[in-house]
Amino acid sequence: MHSSNSASGEACKDCSIPLAHCHAGDDDHPREECGVFGIHGHQEASKLIYLGLYALQHRGQEGAGIVCGQDGVLTAHRGMGLVADVFKPHKLKRVVGDCGIGHVRYSTFGSSNLRNVQPLVVDYAKGSMAVAHNGNLTNAALLREELEAAGAIFQSTTDSEVLIHLISRSKGKEFTDCVVDALRQVVGSYSIVIHNGETLVAARDPHGFRPLWLGRLDDAYVVASETCAFDIIDAEWIREIKPGEVLTITRHRVQSSEPFESVTPKQCLFEFVYVARPDSYIFGESVDIVRKKLGRELARQAPVDADVVMAVPDSSNPAALGYSHESGLPFDMGFIRNHYVGRTFIEPDQGIRDFGVKIKLNPSRPAVEGKRIVLVDDSVVRGTTARKIIKSLRRCGAKEIHFRVASPRITNSCYYGIDTPNKEKLIAHKLSVEEIRSFLNVDSLEYLELDALLKSTNGDPSHFCTACFTGEYPTPEPGDYELHTNNLRHVDHSTAVLYER
Ligand code: AMP
Repeated sequence: MHSSNSASGEACKDCSIPLAHCHAGDDDHPREECGVFGIHGHQEASKLIYLGLYALQHRGQEGAGIVCGQDGVLTAHRGMGLVADVFKPHKLKRVVGDCGIGHVRYSTFGSSNLRNVQPLVVDYAKGSMAVAHNGNLTNAALLREELEAAGAIFQSTTDSEVLIHLISRSKGKEFTDCVVDALRQVVGSYSIVIHNGETLVAARDPHGFRPLWLGRLDDAYVVASETCAFDIIDAEWIREIKPGEVLTITRHRVQSSEPFESVTPKQCLFEFVYVARPDSYIFGESVDIVRKKLGRELARQAPVDADVVMAVPDSSNPAALGYSHESGLPFDMGFIRNHYVGRTFIEPDQGIRDFGVKIKLNPSRPAVEGKRIVLVDDSVVRGTTARKIIKSLRRCGAKEIHFRVASPRITNSCYYGIDTPNKEKLIAHKLSVEEIRSFLNVDSLEYLELDALLKSTNGDPSHFCTACFTGEYPTPEPGDYELHTNNLRHVDHSTAVLYER
């Protein structure tokens, strides 16, 4: 396991980060919120993947990679930073083949290094393969320990590398059989694309936590986390890949199978609240429409006598518009966003994160001064962003601030791929609504009710994961798997669907 409390200047043996900076032992680590893209059957695969990743940039800004292949030979380029910085024309030109996958990565700190940037690519007994994964495997630590005990060597600290070892060990005949063998052994969330230079496999875990779409561009098939990645390349949207579905894509052909025991879907509500782009469709719905409905519900649930409705741009724009439409209060641009800085959470250090909030959003004085403001944000996690921006509104002379949050209180960590921190750092886990109101220094505070969030999706309420709001986890939690180093076995869990010993 990682060790993070040495001041010796020594590097962490797992991720090579100096121990003083490696927080891999924290409960925060590693957790990802990523975007994936895949294509089969197009001579310009790497360029199209590049464009797809560009559209998925909001899902991860820490690193990006593309691996293409043809006739079993893979070429790759990966790097830290934004897609436009990682891929220069001469680098992209060297990534060749008509089949390929790409990944944008976002993670908490401790794992910020090139070795963790995906797609992971390896050579093994049967050839080569590349893996790009959005999600989080909750039993990865246990599997890794078992694999290491059997002699496996890991090059990264990502849970996705466990899958590579499981695939390579599989006795399956076809590539897809080996992938399915591996997926049967993992628990948690995955929307995943894997290829070996001949076959592209795309799969969504049985609960369908994360989105994944199938599309077409001329004779080529494409797969992406969100439809906005199809729009940028003019690809046709075919359909969402179903929870538990595995697609095998070979030249101009797609084969579907559903090899896992079926369970009730548990799609991530937070994709609607914050993660996905509003111009995308996920889980059968337009993200923009759902977010506007969240704002309308919030206005019905928590009306207030005020002069103006403002968003915390960009993610809460649709919800603030919904609030404005329902309440009849005018919408105004209270904050101007500097688009040349990444999302707040990208910085791995608390001090830098606060700095990020400061440089990202600046209030527009004439819109704010002397106004009774309804401020709408999509979510409150640690409370860091809200506290800072509310302070800045006060400094600009806001008369009253009524804070409205377009999601319920986040009281539990996510184990399925959203970067929510350790429970102790979640403000709503520690404080009551009144205490948060006082901490944020607002005149009133209301969170959207869970029922209203579920209703806004139009979907079957039982088909969504509510764990971050309720603590009801659809699978065993990482802590349920005791590591062998403690001489304890895996705690048997009646809800373990995929991983049983
Ligand atoms: P916090 O400052 O920790 O309360 O974060 C809440 C703010 O960050 C809100 O304005 C959200 O729009 C945004 N946010 C929520 N969840 C995430 C996430 N997983 N990654 C990055 N930003 C987030």
